[in-house]
Amino acid sequence: MIRTSLPLKKSLKPKRCRSCGANFNPISSMSKACSVPCAMALNDAAKAKSAARAAKDERKSLAERKAKLKTRREWIAEAQAAVNKVARLRDLLAGHGCISCGARPQQKFGGTFDAGHYRSVGSAPHMRYYLPAIRGQCVRCNRDLGGSAVNFRKGLVERIGINRVEEIESMQWTAKWSVEYLERLKKVMNKKARRLEKRIEAKSEVNQLEAVE
Ligand SMILES: [Zn+2]
Ligand SMILES: [Zn+2]
Repeated sequence: MIRTSLPLKKSLKPKRCRSCGANFNPISSMSKACSVPCAMALNDAAKAKSAARAAKDERKSLAERKAKLKTRREWIAEAQAAVNKVARLRDLLAGHGCISCGARPQQKFGGTFDAGHYRSVGSAPHMRYYLPAIRGQCVRCNRDLGGSAVNFRKGLVERIGINRVEEIESMQWTAKWSVEYLERLKKVMNKKARRLEKRIEAKSEVNQLEAVE
């Protein structure tokens, strides 16, 4: 049998336009829109979607960076607590009272004896962990009297001399604490604090024995 006609190109089934929803006869199997304006609208929608996704990724990475920053801030605070503890215990062991007014802390030093920075952390952040400039200070001088700086200086001069105090006053550098450094600092300081606590305990036992005799 001889064919009398060429087979017709198989026509494609009508589709629903993804933009306007109308039925249309697609030119190719790839067609998604019924017309040029609908194709453009679809294109715009796709672009907006990918822009939104990029913005979301950006926000996510910002949040991750923030989380890292927060961790570092926490490390700074934890290392500070350990350094402050060492400063307080060092002064207690030496029998010192408040650097500014000389008041003796009560038996429990946690709440009544602060660690005061001679140069405030706000204005001299590089001195944050510098133990010679951190001294046991009563709550009144440290908190109520805003650090009692003039008397702090007097007390510090008595303890370490005017030359060292002036040296501390002129110390200038830019501090960049890495998380690794802060972790190590906290660990070392806590160890030091435990040793100081033991020595304070031993000393008070000796004092008690002497009082009995
Ligand atoms: Zn359409
Ligand atoms: Zn005081």
